[in-house]
Amino acid sequence: MVIAVASGKGGTGKTTVAVSLALAASNDADARPLLLDCDVEEPNCALFLDLDRITRKPTGVLVPEVDPVKCDLCGRCAEVCVWKAIAVAGEKVLVFRDLCHGCGSCTLMCPRGAIHEIMHETGSIEESSNRSVDYAGGVLNVGQVMAVPVISALLDGHLRDRGKRTVILDSSPGSSCPMVETVKASDYVILVTEPTPFGLHDLDAAVRVVTDQLHIPSGVIVNRDGTGNDDVIDFCRERGLPVLARIPMDRRIAEVLSEGKPLVRALPEYMDLFREILATIGETTS
Ligand code: SF4
Ligand code: SF4
Repeated sequence: MVIAVASGKGGTGKTTVAVSLALAASNDADARPLLLDCDVEEPNCALFLDLDRITRKPTGVLVPEVDPVKCDLCGRCAEVCVWKAIAVAGEKVLVFRDLCHGCGSCTLMCPRGAIHEIMHETGSIEESSNRSVDYAGGVLNVGQVMAVPVISALLDGHLRDRGKRTVILDSSPGSSCPMVETVKASDYVILVTEPTPFGLHDLDAAVRVVTDQLHIPSGVIVNRDGTGNDDVIDFCRERGLPVLARIPMDRRIAEVLSEGKPLVRALPEYMDLFREILATIGETTS
């Protein structure tokens, strides 16, 4: 079972939920849970996991490199590139690496065989574990803008041979490409929100993507419950979305998180709540 934890906006408690679910799933003696931090622009799961030694592998995008001896400046490569990442300028072919999505079309279409591909490093994949969970996370290099290739490298490398493990994906916030790349790999999506007008607005946007476009089963966790109004609950009822949990505004939660402690370890009464959430999702997806 692969569960993605997403949110329409940042700061809702998405990472707290993802880490808590992974630790709650760790009572399965047959299969250690796997937590994948796909929020590659701001990966924070590791802060709460007391991990053993972390290994890092570079990852990136295969970008074109042009052999000026073979190239006759025909411009076919620029014509096929929808991203405008390659262009003929005077007597040269220019490649804008940071715009390149590594699709390979220009290499395939070059009639002179003048293009070969080289790796443009844009990030890294970290791996580690602690006594309860296995962990891997993507990290986008500073100054890079293309989160999706790092996320897809992380998912490709860890979902294929997952067996019966419970896999938790901590998605990027929002409802743009990084979020879509993450949640489309899941069996179920948890949308974390707050009971505020902003929370409702961004939840609505996320539901339009997850439910209306991708048709992935989903449920909602309302965090900091009691701080706003019931509009989020009414919205869930109207959209037929199960409210999996309402986590109260609790000063103790803020305190343990500020100390880098995982919620379900520091406040064990929340462990049962997250195990119930996993059981509910298991029944929904079976
Ligand atoms: S398609 Fe090949 S030969 Fe034509 S401009 Fe591009 S690199 Fe040069
Ligand atoms: S690999 Fe794809 S995105 Fe990159 S320059 Fe070639 S056609 Fe454009």
